[in-house]
Amino acid sequence: MTFLGMPAFPANAAAAVRDSQLRFNLRKATHTIREKRASVVAELPDWARLREAGKQIKDHTLRNLERYLLQMEEAVTAAGGHVHWAADAREANRIVTGLVRETGESDVVKVKSMATQEIGLNEALAEAGITAYETDLAELIVQLGDDWPSHILVPAIHRSRAEIREIFLEKMADWGRPAPEELTDDPRALAEAARRHLRERFLSTKVAISGANFMIAETGTLVVLESEGNGRMCLTLPKTLISVVGIEKLLPTWRDLEVFLQLLPRSSTGERMNPYTSTWTGATEGQEFHLVLLDNGRTRVLADEVGRQALRCIRCSACLNVCPVYERAGGHAYGSVYPGPIGAILTPQLRGMSSPLDASLPYASTLCGACYDVCPVAIDIPEVLVHLRGRAPHPRAERLGMRAAGWVFDRPERLARAERLAGRLRRFVPRRAPGPGPLSAWTETRDLPEIPAESFRDWWTRTDGGTR
Ligand code: SF4
Repeated sequence: MTFLGMPAFPANAAAAVRDSQLRFNLRKATHTIREKRASVVAELPDWARLREAGKQIKDHTLRNLERYLLQMEEAVTAAGGHVHWAADAREANRIVTGLVRETGESDVVKVKSMATQEIGLNEALAEAGITAYETDLAELIVQLGDDWPSHILVPAIHRSRAEIREIFLEKMADWGRPAPEELTDDPRALAEAARRHLRERFLSTKVAISGANFMIAETGTLVVLESEGNGRMCLTLPKTLISVVGIEKLLPTWRDLEVFLQLLPRSSTGERMNPYTSTWTGATEGQEFHLVLLDNGRTRVLADEVGRQALRCIRCSACLNVCPVYERAGGHAYGSVYPGPIGAILTPQLRGMSSPLDASLPYASTLCGACYDVCPVAIDIPEVLVHLRGRAPHPRAERLGMRAAGWVFDRPERLARAERLAGRLRRFVPRRAPGPGPLSAWTETRDLPEIPAESFRDWWTRTDGGTR
């Protein structure tokens, strides 16, 4: 599946909000996670200091990214791994496809990696005759359902248990071991069906592709946090492991990781500790290891003084779970693997704003600021949204209008003359804009303010500040 060619956010959101089942599923799931998060965060008296530490560590790393990336490369190579540099999606896909081909295998297992979804790796592998099997439970549901992920942490958040049961019964057999005929929509039964299906896959597949939550430059170590243990199977059983990781995932030292191992589980799943934290350094006995360091627009983001804070993101999804727009529109409306508030600032920066969809994303927000309040690395998402709105392409009429307004507001005497003219012409100014069009859509639900006959500044002069 691909997001290419999707309409702009308002059209996608308008369609999504008509789906009452989707809204019910999203509301239930996001409210449950957000309440869990709030309660475990409240347990820590030093949360604000942890958050500040997370922000400082990320900013320091991004300021010195080149140094830490080279340190990472040196450490991985010294530990027997191979490091590849990918400037963009095409290069990363070419490298990974080539590496899989070298093994002679035509199947790979994957543990959740948003970076590989960002670059469309599954599609590139399919073109090369290689089948990628997702092994994270939610990703498996998305893949079997020929669907798109709609949440960073719970990609199948838009699916109910009954829908998942249907997908398993209909599609599992096409991808390997079928689901049992008597499968119910009990979560344990669904998990058991997925476990048996995946176990066979792990034992028979020789190449794995992973992402990573963090990379530790001082030792060349990669870190994956997950809840199911599938990741650990995926990382250890295959003979070749290829990890595709965005260059912003670096941390300088293990000590820095300590901060994020507290911030991430509490912000994402609302847990005090993460159930499975896997770390690995270079190649191990009997396993070859390749690290693909992915740029794909990240250095361009880094060059933007306001926008670069988006690279601090640790993909916890807390901002999605509190966003009133995400809760109603769902993840698919954002047309990217990065939905919600973080998607609204990251996607237009990574992909540019040349398509109507990408140019509309900075507007997919009410600017209420709830995302900033919960972000464990203090990304000021509203600030970046406003910044990106300034850079987004605007219709010619709007540009001309803004230029004219700028000219009038530039000089007090011009503004005074414009106010007097407006006062004289006020009878001819309609309370509703003529339609149909964007202006009439605006005034349909809002009255234009009445223009006073006398401006404040003229009243002030006439009455000497209200004393006469
Ligand atoms: S922007 Fe902040 S809250 Fe949102 S996913 Fe990233 S780290 Fe989490």
